[in-house]
Amino acid sequence: MDTTVFQPVEPPVPAARARSLTKVYGEGAAAVNALAGVDVDFAAGAFTAIMGPSGSGKSTLMHLLAGLDSATSGSAYLGSTEITSLDDRELTRLRRDRIGFVFQSFNLLPMFTAEQNITLPLELAGRSLDADSREWLATLVQTLSLGDRLTHRPSELSGGQQQRVAIARALIAKPDVVFADEPTGNLDSRSGAEVLSFLRRSVRELGRTIIMVTHDPAAAAYADRVVLLADGRIAGTIMAPTPESVLAGLDALRQLDMTADDAERVAVASGSFPVVGA
Ligand code: ADP
Repeated sequence: MDTTVFQPVEPPVPAARARSLTKVYGEGAAAVNALAGVDVDFAAGAFTAIMGPSGSGKSTLMHLLAGLDSATSGSAYLGSTEITSLDDRELTRLRRDRIGFVFQSFNLLPMFTAEQNITLPLELAGRSLDADSREWLATLVQTLSLGDRLTHRPSELSGGQQQRVAIARALIAKPDVVFADEPTGNLDSRSGAEVLSFLRRSVRELGRTIIMVTHDPAAAAYADRVVLLADGRIAGTIMAPTPESVLAGLDALRQLDMTADDAERVAVASGSFPVVGA
């Protein structure tokens, strides 16, 4: 008798994904289709940038994927959890336990030291700073070069240092996904480059998953992949992006905007976009 047990190889579950995701703001003549049916996967252990012209739906997509806003129709998943079917209480818990956030404005608590800011998510989740957490804290502090800043308050730190503290805070509870919303928007270009390198190290060296919204092609070029949005739809992806390939992608979108009818848009959304690969 054949005793071999067949074990199918399951494809890995993406860290986050959207299926036919739509969001309409307002009603009637004033309705805005912020997302018009988005299908996209975000791989675990990858750094993905979401890019597109202003008003293309980047923030809306991020908010829906992070459970910060509700969809009009379609589904958003965090791993295998369908977040679009969770109630407010479940969403609050999911955001607390499984998602990290990095904001443009850092959002550190001014009366706390850097270390207290970093460990706050553990406290809020009622988790003690056990040996594992201490080891992870030490790794983050080392990776983000914060060792000599831990006792400083935010007002005693530069913008770049504050954002590095915010990144450590977003990673301390080892969330499934970190969402970063224009994380370099308030930084000069040198501090911005530093913060982006640290985000990339968090993915490459610490195995984390980051989804970043940005309008800056230089920032997007730090990611492993760029997802381009236009008019609430996925318009293409760029693997191993460079500032040049991202700019070329955005230019192609603008050209398309001037000439495209719906049939062309569908062709673009289904993958026949010229700006794939690097
Ligand atoms: P992006 O982040 O790419 O600039 P957004 O996701 O912020 O784009 O917005 C997509 C579209 O939805 C835009 O036309 C914007 O004006 C509209 N929009 C966003 N938020 C709201 C809201 N709360 N109420 C009405 N319209 C909104």
